[in-house]
Amino acid sequence: MKVVWSDLFTKTFFSPPSLVEAWTSRMEEFKRRASKYFQFEEPLEASLEDFKLVHCEELVEEVRKLNDVGGVLDYGDTYIYPGSLEVLLADLGGVYRAYEIAKHQGFGYTPYGGLHHAHRCSAAGFCPLNDLAVLIEKLTKEGKRIAYLDFDVHHGDGTQEIFYERDDVLTLSLHMYHPGFYPGTGHYSELGRGRGLGYSLNVPLPPGTGDEAYQLALKIIVKRAIESFEPDVIVTQMGVDGHKDDPLGGALNLSTNTFKAIGELLASFNVPVVGAGGGGYGRRSVKAMLAELSGAFGIGELWEEVREEKTESNPEAISRVMYVKKFFEDQLDWF
Ligand SMILES: [Zn+2]
Repeated sequence: MKVVWSDLFTKTFFSPPSLVEAWTSRMEEFKRRASKYFQFEEPLEASLEDFKLVHCEELVEEVRKLNDVGGVLDYGDTYIYPGSLEVLLADLGGVYRAYEIAKHQGFGYTPYGGLHHAHRCSAAGFCPLNDLAVLIEKLTKEGKRIAYLDFDVHHGDGTQEIFYERDDVLTLSLHMYHPGFYPGTGHYSELGRGRGLGYSLNVPLPPGTGDEAYQLALKIIVKRAIESFEPDVIVTQMGVDGHKDDPLGGALNLSTNTFKAIGELLASFNVPVVGAGGGGYGRRSVKAMLAELSGAFGIGELWEEVREEKTESNPEAISRVMYVKKFFEDQLDWF
């Protein structure tokens, strides 16, 4: 079984300096542990021009300029370090390679990227440019219907905005939604616009959601949406920052059981699935990444390595999931 890897993934990230070390050690730890189970494939070639498929020219040029000197994009939480452009291109090339792998083995995975907060004309939330949106746009140009699933603890706001008026791209994000929690969007009433009305879905979850409620959402919302939408390809942001040990998203209180369930669900659809790493800001995030891969590839030995106790769900989370499912049933004729 193959997954994507490049040593450039351990070089840097696009967060403030205080988080870069946690990120790069997560990548090193992933390399060390995943190499026991997987063959690594290098990213394909990618160019900065590719990002113009979904981004304003000004934003792409700003990234190009900052690559020489380093600097901060937009609101001040998205950094370009001198020379980090090559990492961004390895990231995009990794997404391309993951799609090639997915065509052969069903599920293709790259541990970096999933830069879902990058909007069409603005960077945000450690995301200079939106790698998965570029792949999605390319695939729709081939006439494919794409389902984008976002499991990161933060709302996939940039990807949602880019495809908000499209009916050939379904975006579906599960995330923590709570006053003060980044980015503050992703209410279930955000359903798309124009031709795209009904093709942006959001499942906003409260702190303390836990395994049971999250997995209920996987079953009665995510699985059902995919089966009804009938995509040709699934593109997914597999962020693990909802894991209970994560410094940014731990309040969602998920254990590795949920990340294994995400992997199993993704492998159950009969179409190519492309997964990118997404958020996760500690070395312990790697357990959740490996749980996803153990689920997707059915590797029992790997699951034994990362298995944790299930976490409890608060009643509010269960009723929120039921409510959102009912809301979609009432609002969407295709769901
Ligand atoms: Zn995140």
